[in-house]
Amino acid sequence: MISPIRSADRSSPVLDKNRPVPFFTQAASFTECWPDIQRHVNAVFDRGKFSHGRQVAQLEKELAAYTGARHVLAVNSGTDALVLLLRACGIEPGDEVIVPAFSFVASASSVALARATPVFADIDPVSYSLDPASVEAAVTPRTRAVMPVHLFWQLADMAALGEVARRHGLMVVEDSAEAIGMRWDGRHAGLLGRGGVLSFFPTKTLGALGDAGAVLTDDPEVAERVTTLRHHGRMGRTVDHIAGISNLSGASGTNSKADDLQAAVLLGKLPRLDAAIARRAELAAAYTERLRDVPGVTRLPTVVPREAATNPVYYVYLVEVERRDALVEHLTRQGIGTEVYYPTPLHLQPCFAHLGHRPGDFPHAEAACARTVALPFHPDLALADVDRVCEAVSDFYRGGAPS
Ligand SMILES: *Cc1c(COP(=O)(O)O)cnc(C)c1O
Repeated sequence: MISPIRSADRSSPVLDKNRPVPFFTQAASFTECWPDIQRHVNAVFDRGKFSHGRQVAQLEKELAAYTGARHVLAVNSGTDALVLLLRACGIEPGDEVIVPAFSFVASASSVALARATPVFADIDPVSYSLDPASVEAAVTPRTRAVMPVHLFWQLADMAALGEVARRHGLMVVEDSAEAIGMRWDGRHAGLLGRGGVLSFFPTKTLGALGDAGAVLTDDPEVAERVTTLRHHGRMGRTVDHIAGISNLSGASGTNSKADDLQAAVLLGKLPRLDAAIARRAELAAAYTERLRDVPGVTRLPTVVPREAATNPVYYVYLVEVERRDALVEHLTRQGIGTEVYYPTPLHLQPCFAHLGHRPGDFPHAEAACARTVALPFHPDLALADVDRVCEAVSDFYRGGAPS
């Protein structure tokens, strides 16, 4: 009934020197996972329930086992997961939540969608995650929470950020959308404060074939509220909207149930997640080895030691370079894909103009936006592709190519 997706050929012995290297594709992995995905997809079709059915329930169970979370609530997207998590934690209009100025827009827009105010802080220039001193400086009497974002390959400095939060009585809510597989002393990302999220957007480390996300928490009250909010505020089988949830009165729920076909895809891929993470580590090491001595490449991914045992999980491979935009153009001309995460710091985004920030307010965030570029990266990338990308980067800076 459904035929396998044709795979990109990963093992081709004759590699065309000029073949394109896309920034991202998951075509080849699907061949391997296909029998498992198909089994789960067939189960969805057999039952005929496509929203919030058995595959979603099974995915929640398997993600709880993988992460160690007491509660996993599957929702429509990572962004929805953040909004519902903030609301379930009791974030209300008038509250301030401190977020990094360098992140995906959802880290801050989720706060605004929860009708609270995002307050920006600068990042550490090496790990690209919240700088605890900048967070401390951003605290006001209205601050309720701080949202560390675990970007690219490693956890934020949760020891120092936790200490700032404790001193000021703030909640810690994690944007762990990129952080599946990252652990702090054995505890999975998202479970180091009140709760966290996962995104299954297709490019993420565990990607679906469309949008999906989840809330992770050990707190039963937060879990119950998310369960209610994601389904129009519905309690059980009768529709008592938000009844019985104190501090959510006047707040409506939404429709952010999860899709069983996406859950089926994720169930088919989850058993291979750790292998994919290991492959990502291998590819990151290969990039680093080849780019180490290239002039113009000013910073390679660096894992900053934390106060506890942590493990990097490479979601993207991102470097800092000179003349970034010219390099991107050079690579594009060679058929090599790149991505700029993130071109505009959040405090200078038009949607946050009303907060009154100016260039120069968060220099490390601004520098990261200007200098970083992510190179092609996904588990199906061949080492020969890494060679080709690194040669093209090297040519650019060694004058082998016009700039
Ligand atoms: C991907 C991502 C999100 C949002 O996830 P979606 O599933 O795309 O809504 C939020 N924060 C960060 C840091 C992300 O990378």
